[in-house]
Amino acid sequence: MNSTPNPLLSDWSQASQFPPFAAVKPEHFAPAFSSAMQQQRDEIKAITDNTQAASFDNTIAAFDRTGRQLNLISMLYSNLLSSRSSEALQAVELEWAPKLAAFANEVASNRALFARIDAVMQSGQAAAALTEEQQELLKRIHLDFVRQGAQLSGTASDRFGAIGERLAQIQAQFVQNVMGAEKDYTLQLNDKSDLAGLPDFVIGGAAQAAKERGLNGHVITLSRSLVVPFLTYSSRRDLRKIAYEAWTERGEKHATYDNHPLIKEILALRLEMAQLLGYKTFADYAIEDRMAGTPAAARALMIKAWEPAKQKAGRELAQLQAAAKAEGLSDELMPWDWRYYAEKVRVTEYALSDDETKPYFSLKNMTAAMFDTAQRLFGIQFKPMPDVVGYHPDVKVYSVTDAKSQLIAYFFTDNFARPFKQGGAWMSLYRDQTRNLAAGAAPSIPIVSNNNNFARAQDADSTLLSTDDVRTLFHEFGHGLHGMLSNVHYARISGTNVLQDFVELPSQLFEHWAMEPSVLKRFAKHVTTHEPISDDLLKRIEAAANFNSGFETVEYNACTLIDLALHQHPTPASLDLAAFEEAELTRLGMPKQIKMRHRLPHFSHLFSSNYYAAGYYVYMWAEVLDADAFDAFTEAGNVFDPAVAARLKQHIYSAGGSVAPMKTYLAFRGKEPAVEPMLRGRGLLETA
Ligand SMILES: [Zn+2]
Repeated sequence: MNSTPNPLLSDWSQASQFPPFAAVKPEHFAPAFSSAMQQQRDEIKAITDNTQAASFDNTIAAFDRTGRQLNLISMLYSNLLSSRSSEALQAVELEWAPKLAAFANEVASNRALFARIDAVMQSGQAAAALTEEQQELLKRIHLDFVRQGAQLSGTASDRFGAIGERLAQIQAQFVQNVMGAEKDYTLQLNDKSDLAGLPDFVIGGAAQAAKERGLNGHVITLSRSLVVPFLTYSSRRDLRKIAYEAWTERGEKHATYDNHPLIKEILALRLEMAQLLGYKTFADYAIEDRMAGTPAAARALMIKAWEPAKQKAGRELAQLQAAAKAEGLSDELMPWDWRYYAEKVRVTEYALSDDETKPYFSLKNMTAAMFDTAQRLFGIQFKPMPDVVGYHPDVKVYSVTDAKSQLIAYFFTDNFARPFKQGGAWMSLYRDQTRNLAAGAAPSIPIVSNNNNFARAQDADSTLLSTDDVRTLFHEFGHGLHGMLSNVHYARISGTNVLQDFVELPSQLFEHWAMEPSVLKRFAKHVTTHEPISDDLLKRIEAAANFNSGFETVEYNACTLIDLALHQHPTPASLDLAAFEEAELTRLGMPKQIKMRHRLPHFSHLFSSNYYAAGYYVYMWAEVLDADAFDAFTEAGNVFDPAVAARLKQHIYSAGGSVAPMKTYLAFRGKEPAVEPMLRGRGLLETA
């Protein structure tokens, strides 16, 4: 018998407790998952065994309370997998990913449980005796089950399950084909003249790529991080054309890795799945559960940005054409010329190097700036807790208190890249906010974490950030505040548990303060001279941000429009995809020098899972909201206006999913979001 207790089965649900970072070992997860899953099974059985009629309290609120321990263990597990992984922990993941998925499926297909949830939904209790938040929770939980096929029976139910399995299989095949097509292709750069125009970092990357493939010299591959710099700097127009065509046609004209048949099957299966659930098309099914509500609403927004973006791209093209002429190119520009001449224009008109900006953006000062912004907007204070030990020495822990000095959250930062840490930046939770707990339990105080992958300076505090890094820091902190300020009753709708096209509002909105001159004037001080950043540099940072935005908006919006059209097509199995893409783009008046950011045969957002299917538009949807929301401060004449900030806190950062998204937005803003602030923010409204 093992006498050492499993630390994962200890309790860290109370305000003063933290996950058992020091004690936990990979081998603790398997027994803890088994035990916590059984516990949730028992909790659900207590609900379904109840002989009393189903009610909100004994079914919906009770279900929201189940799985508390499994949830806490899962949060710690996924955080460690991302931030402090190991081979042993990865082995746990290989074994447990399918088991956890199967358990989630077991809960979702529990017929006795859904029968009670459905009974509450049908009883009419909703409108009569429930609070607005309770009604939202009831709708949310009911919809969770319905969208996973809970209302289907017999052959329809079997077919729904089979479609899900087949989709998982061929979506994985789609991703492998894209990787295979990328892996198979190299453009060999044979002699010195083939390297013309390339800066050292591209030459180094091309040499490294050759070495990894056992080749001599230099090769260009189809990875975005190598081919885009090649297209940006190579002065060899003939080689740019070859690389560009190979890149934009990957997954298409390839004997082994042709993705067209897979795409048609994926689209047909999604359509069938949506129709089994009673929707006309997959786009209707997907967008019903987003703020946009309907495919038409999503498309209408994309079209509103389309014409101004095309016009801006037209003005950009004229600039590029002039630069090309100055270099002696009299031909019409082609798609493989855009990035090359855009770089020439950028250097002459908007020159801005990291060397010039970085000394003003130390991580220490920018962290102070984001805490100060949160304090001025929402009245909250961050205090370091040096005695709390996280999972790695780089982790810093803060307590977060409100204006009345009440503890509302803990905040972790883990800012630096290192081995066994996932790339990118993200916000995550170790504990979520809820008050729906066992009788007598104190409310759950959230533990929120922000991860970044900045390159650490020897002295961590003097780490310097690029302007993109600063935006990322504020972006993730915006998600973090959404978790920390959450003030709802139920776990399923707390914090960032909101719809997919709403969840980026709090994060993208917070980015506006990152580049706000009044904030930077106070905090962006030169690391050695301590001089505040100059007005001139601030202006140039702002101008550079919108350079080439016509091109970027066109290549993005074309993707969103094709995505929506494909997922509304009545007979996708019969499509000739290349012809469909071309006909749609011609109808939209796509400039011929620009192609879709992702063409269909390698559009992994759409075909690697259902998550972004009929949903590539969500980035711009959220951008409309954040630009319009920040305009509320601009209109008030103060980027820290207390009345606007109070409404923002109450209706956006604290509300979770307790109120329908458009309703809560209206409560904050007093009007529906306008598109113009987003267009202005992207520089699409300026005239020639
Ligand atoms: Zn985000």
